Amino acid sequence: MKNLYDSNFAKNLDDLELRVYTSRLLGSCDKLVLHGGGNTSVKIGNILYVKGSGWDLATIQKEGFAPVNLQKLIDMLNYDSLSDSQMVKLQREAMSDKSAPNPSVEAILHAIIPYKYVDHTHADAIVTLTNSKAGLDTIKRLYKNYLIVPYVMPGFILAKEVYKLSKSIKWEDIKGIILLKHGIFTFANSAKESYDNMIQAVTKAELEINKPPFDLDKLQDYMSQKRGFKVSMNINTSYSAKAFSTLKEPHRFGILTPEHIIRTKRYPVLLEKDFKNEIDEYISEYISYFNRHKSNEIMLNPAPNWAVVRDYGIITFGKDNKECNIIEDIAMHTIEAIFNAQKYGGFDSLNESECFKMEYWELEQAKLKAK
Ligand code: ZN
Repeated sequence: MKNLYDSNFAKNLDDLELRVYTSRLLGSCDKLVLHGGGNTSVKIGNILYVKGSGWDLATIQKEGFAPVNLQKLIDMLNYDSLSDSQMVKLQREAMSDKSAPNPSVEAILHAIIPYKYVDHTHADAIVTLTNSKAGLDTIKRLYKNYLIVPYVMPGFILAKEVYKLSKSIKWEDIKGIILLKHGIFTFANSAKESYDNMIQAVTKAELEINKPPFDLDKLQDYMSQKRGFKVSMNINTSYSAKAFSTLKEPHRFGILTPEHIIRTKRYPVLLEKDFKNEIDEYISEYISYFNRHKSNEIMLNPAPNWAVVRDYGIITFGKDNKECNIIEDIAMHTIEAIFNAQKYGGFDSLNESECFKMEYWELEQAKLKAK
């Protein structure tokens, strides 16, 4: 995730202007917040300026921040419970400018964090992990210096929970708070550092999510060995490629139109556990297919031209980038057709012997040689 902070632009801004500036940076990124989500604050003297409800971080201005007495917010933690309407009433009473918007529902939580700037987002990558069945271990591994808070209802209950948990930590030891199934808080005494912490934390989760299941250089070396030349690879982890890779048998659909076979072979290889074994098995399956149908043809290289990588995306192999792009285009169009064919009973492609005839048709072979 790109850090958009421009020190040159920020150098003459006062505390509240800096708050507006980095709030807008957060709001400009839909991978952090969507449509009015998230909230930010700055503490200036005994006042907490916190995002007002109805304002969007992407477009917020100074007057979008509600000024609330900091101590009065903290004192609200003495209540065992507060209804939403009671909380709104007490918060409004604590405001120094009654014409300002209502403070965010997370105002009390912002107040108890002992740092000047506090940023809160619902970053996709973080909530992807915290909404995954086996995501908690990964969260704990990646965010050692974060307070991890089990899900509770946002608002007063969440503020009480964080306050309770914070008694067993030292605030100076932690860089932020991960709210399971909700989002993330970062904080610091400078606007830049709090924003930087957010971008770093979210980038960490993004890299984790997009990490391939095995070493791609080793895959390239192994494929090069099998093809007899240094192969190029195109990696496609787009949403549709990834969605395709989660299907039950994504490598058994077949081709979209006969001429594609000289580019893609009939099937891709499915890589999910041990890519060397899986490629070897593909090759022996290809050799059996050739032997079942051959008369006097010469076998093409039996290694796959593209791979579906389980829960990750697709990878195409070729002698150069141009060939990889061609195979990728064909694969992606085929994938779209496979999904669309669901509406009509499911994809049903050419059978094996028709495929063989096409793959080893003299005219098609000649076409390849000409390229
Ligand atoms: Zn939230």
